[in-house]
Amino acid sequence: MQLRFIVPKANKRSRERDRFLTKAMGACWHEYDPDKPVRNASLIGYVCKKCNDFLFTNNDFSTLEDFIKLLNWANGQKKLSKFVSQFAPKDFVNEKKGPQTRKKFADALYSLLSSSKRRQKKHVQRRRT
Ligand SMILES: [Zn+2]
Repeated sequence: MQLRFIVPKANKRSRERDRFLTKAMGACWHEYDPDKPVRNASLIGYVCKKCNDFLFTNNDFSTLEDFIKLLNWANGQKKLSKFVSQFAPKDFVNEKKGPQTRKKFADALYSLLSSSKRRQKKHVQRRRT
């Protein structure tokens, strides 16, 4: 009998969100072979096939560490200032409210950016009326 450890995985929807947002930030959504870990000094991780970076995982914006990257990026985007101002920065790091607020922010930013992308496409395809 084969025993397997069940590693809690991000669900499909939040992975798609994280992939989309990582790309929106202009960063690499790393591609790597999970069966081929490499050792770098005392660390074990993976090498991305696209950018050759040494990495541990792709962005997971439900974690505070990765979320801060997303927040810093959003703060630097002029067109997102209205969106960002709807949130109180202290809520993101709040022990109780933090995880929920970060999820809300990432989900809302994802739907905002993905829907404006779709709208832009429609504008290109349709003639102006
Ligand atoms: Zn990469």
